[in-house]
Amino acid sequence: MIDRAHHVGIAVKRLDDGLALYRTLGLEPESVEDVPTEGVRAAFLRAGDVRVELLESLRSDGVIARFIERRGEGVHHLAFATDDIRGAMGRLRAAGLELVDSEPRRGAHDRLVAFVHPRSAHGVLLELVQDTD
Ligand code: ZN
Repeated sequence: MIDRAHHVGIAVKRLDDGLALYRTLGLEPESVEDVPTEGVRAAFLRAGDVRVELLESLRSDGVIARFIERRGEGVHHLAFATDDIRGAMGRLRAAGLELVDSEPRRGAHDRLVAFVHPRSAHGVLLELVQDTD
């Protein structure tokens, strides 16, 4: 169902500032991409098996902008990979978890993604990613 962690999503005010910090740690972005459907610019960095997704809002009313307004910059979500996102969503829904999405949507790298509401996950927004690469 879910076989591994995929990435940690971090909300930043300015992607360039976030990237500068991770460059200081020795990490270069593998990709930087606008995801208009999510209203974000996303950069992926990899440290060994762990990916970090830095997210800057492209809109003042976007989910990342609103998150930063309420809670400041910081960890936004934890993503897990699955090869069957619809199956995983069905199982989680059947187990009583509240899903943000009724259908998978297109995320960064054109991957299918769906979110589990933090209310159902001890305060953590969970992302399911159907990873094809
Ligand atoms: Zn993510």
